[in-house]
Amino acid sequence: MAVKIINENCKGCELCVKACPFDAITMEHKTAVIQPGCTQCGNCIEVCKFDAIEKSEEAAQTFDREAYRCVWVFAEQREGKLMPAVAELLGEGRKLADELNTELCAVVLGHQISDLASELIGYGAEKVYIGDHQELDTYRTDAYTKVIGEAISAYKPEIVLLGATHIGRDLGPCLAVKADTGLTADCTRLEIGDEERNLHQTRPAFGGNLMATILCPHSRPQMATVRPGVMEAAVFDPQRQGTVIPLEVNFQKGDIRTKVLETVKSIKEQVSLSDADIIVSGGSGLGSGEGFALLEEFAKKLGGVVGASRAAVDAGWIDHSHLIGQTGSTVRPSIYFACGISGAIQHLAGMDGSDYIVAINKDAHAPIFQVADYGLIGDLYEIIPCIMEELDRSHE
Ligand code: FAD
Ligand code: SF4
Repeated sequence: MAVKIINENCKGCELCVKACPFDAITMEHKTAVIQPGCTQCGNCIEVCKFDAIEKSEEAAQTFDREAYRCVWVFAEQREGKLMPAVAELLGEGRKLADELNTELCAVVLGHQISDLASELIGYGAEKVYIGDHQELDTYRTDAYTKVIGEAISAYKPEIVLLGATHIGRDLGPCLAVKADTGLTADCTRLEIGDEERNLHQTRPAFGGNLMATILCPHSRPQMATVRPGVMEAAVFDPQRQGTVIPLEVNFQKGDIRTKVLETVKSIKEQVSLSDADIIVSGGSGLGSGEGFALLEEFAKKLGGVVGASRAAVDAGWIDHSHLIGQTGSTVRPSIYFACGISGAIQHLAGMDGSDYIVAINKDAHAPIFQVADYGLIGDLYEIIPCIMEELDRSHE
């Protein structure tokens, strides 16, 4: 699809220049000219009174569909350890690869990381592309984009999946630009939806009020970042066999424009919400930040961790790293306690996959009760101490 000026119809009125939100039309010799910044939004076509602009189909479908095969997973590692999202991507990638009757592959970059290949094979990767170089020791956008971008153009994967982590969110768009393809960010569902091998990529839209399914039918690879904690992780099997393919890594002066001077780890206590088996979450019903002390005590007794709703985080009662929901972590614990949380759709998006949901709320009509397996109607400051007392008694 491309936007074109029909020169013989153009009267040089400049209406299209003013209408273009991307400054992508200039005038040359009293005729409009489309510039590379054009996003094909079509605004100019609507305002032109002389039928001098049209959208043509000529650029569509220029890729050779048969040339692209394999599902690739970007295996993010830090300090030689795979991120938990990688096993989830391999779990999801396996389903897609089986449906497409193709191979599941992982691509991993770093320095002295050869051990990771067998781990990735154990999680189901049939091929592991490995880029080992000291310049890849710590993640840098330029370095990773160059190496993986070149690998994509050499091996032509059909699908490339990345975790929607900080690194995945940075790297994904750069790779998509390099490969001249599209990317759907923050997907929560992936399916092969048709015979054209198109990946149907679903993600929340409009504040989580509806789910949008996005396709990339005119280019390959199809790229998506996937929300951590949503997809089921692949099961590790040390018996699996696979092939390791080293990637050529060559950097010229100027290829990498940034230097890592120092890595400063957050001194905040890290909460591992996505791995937790029991989560006790608090919302604005706590009434103040002090309420989280009670939840901490409760969580400790249960061997769990503390989560929070956006209202509690926005009130400054607890750090953002505890946030659960559409803009925070997605969790799937065995038991999720929602204490003083109303159950807004954006919160449910992050926790409704929990095995058991226990809601404590003084409003019997709170929407959280619609997803709760057990509902306790009443004041959390009365109910939680009662439960803790019972727990103490049962341990005596
Ligand atoms: P409220 O909705 O105010 O509910 C408080 C509840 O506590 C009430 O049901 C009340 O009956 C109960 N209560 C009060 N006192 C007590 C008591 N003493 N004992 C027991 N119960 C009591 N929210 C998230 O959580 N996570 C997200 O990731 C997120 N992302 C968002 C993204 C967008 C784009 C938007 C627009 C919103 C997002 N939100 C998110 C906000 C979300 O819409 C809600 O506003 C938020 O979840 C409400 O938090 P809450 O349930 O703690 O507060
Ligand atoms: Fe500008 Fe949109 Fe017209 Fe392209 S299609 S020139 S972006 S108005």
